[in-house]
Amino acid sequence: MPNQKQTDYNNSCVTPIYQNTVYFFENTEQVIQYHENEINVGRYGRYDNPNWLEVEKKIAILDNYQDALIFSSGMNAIVTTILTFVQPKDKLIYTGKCYRNVRKFFKSVLPKLAIEVIPMDSAETQRFHAEFEAQSQEDTKIVFIEAPSNPHLYLVDLERLKSQIGQNTLLIVDSTLATPFNCQPQHFGADLVIHSCSKYLGGHGDILAGSVSGSIELIEEIRNYRNMMGGVVAPHGAFLLNRSLESFEIRMKHFNQAGMEVALYLQNSPLVEKVFYTGLDSHPHVDLAQKYLTGHGGVVSFEIKANQESTSRFVDALTIPFMGSNFGSNHSMVEQCSIFTYYKLSAQERQLLGITDNLVRLSVGYGDTGVLIEDIDRALFETCRV
Ligand SMILES: *Cc1c(COP(=O)(O)O)cnc(C)c1O
Repeated sequence: MPNQKQTDYNNSCVTPIYQNTVYFFENTEQVIQYHENEINVGRYGRYDNPNWLEVEKKIAILDNYQDALIFSSGMNAIVTTILTFVQPKDKLIYTGKCYRNVRKFFKSVLPKLAIEVIPMDSAETQRFHAEFEAQSQEDTKIVFIEAPSNPHLYLVDLERLKSQIGQNTLLIVDSTLATPFNCQPQHFGADLVIHSCSKYLGGHGDILAGSVSGSIELIEEIRNYRNMMGGVVAPHGAFLLNRSLESFEIRMKHFNQAGMEVALYLQNSPLVEKVFYTGLDSHPHVDLAQKYLTGHGGVVSFEIKANQESTSRFVDALTIPFMGSNFGSNHSMVEQCSIFTYYKLSAQERQLLGITDNLVRLSVGYGDTGVLIEDIDRALFETCRV
């Protein structure tokens, strides 16, 4: 049979999934026009996909940048972006309290390329900026900030930081926990903003993807690396992410409200020692939160009045949240940090990261928040009462 292309009924309101590896050219002239950037046609599935473009346009608008790219995961977005810009002997400064595999990448991979990596503690803002000042800025290529941070939701004074760094230093912000709905790092001088779309942007616990937003020039450089390294999101994943973005604002309104409700409940519970939620006055960075955030999301971390064993009993007694390490999805999730994400660390390493034995990270889902609070209340009463 000759090659044929389906042209009927392709006026679907929803963009179809381009589940293809390769694109055809009409003739040799088109191939040359493609090479000369005169026409927008696809070439190969690692470079081009219409489902990506749809998502990338939306994320660029949400983040308020000229352009954006999506990747196979948040980690891949970070790794590809960093590798695009570093050279041997460069220095990279980062918030030491950040996503586990980001820390691992900085500590175990970048030194192999003769890149100096320097973690800095963002928990105490004054000290953070003073220590930052003490670093030579000449050779600092990248400052990588995770804010709000995992799991304490620490923030960084981005504007002040921007005034401290040199013109040739890239300020990159992992804004996964805030999302574009609650924070706009672009307004405060970030050159690139990264999200793990596996969390709030995907929003249904069924997609792995990541994104980076920035100027046309920076995004073009990163695109060259993505083309080469191939950390691309599958067409179906991009399709699902596009669907998710349609309800993004509605879902974030829910998360902000539900997170606040749970945080207020916990703050008032006599069985809870400390709550980390940027919407509460008790958060150490509440001033920064007022400046940088317009909402506080669905992740609430808290320390209960219990030792490690009783804290395990508490998370085991919960019936509504799944025990697992994720946030921003339809299911509420809970983890005892010292036993879950930070299990493999020594007691001393956990202490440095502020991971206490009684620290719990809860992320709210789309279910009834009142029912979730009742579940927490019952579990606390059963396991922590003295
Ligand atoms: C989840 C997460 C990542 C990694 O994203 P993946 O999509 O899981 O690869 C990076 N940074 C933060 C803050 C995250 O929460």
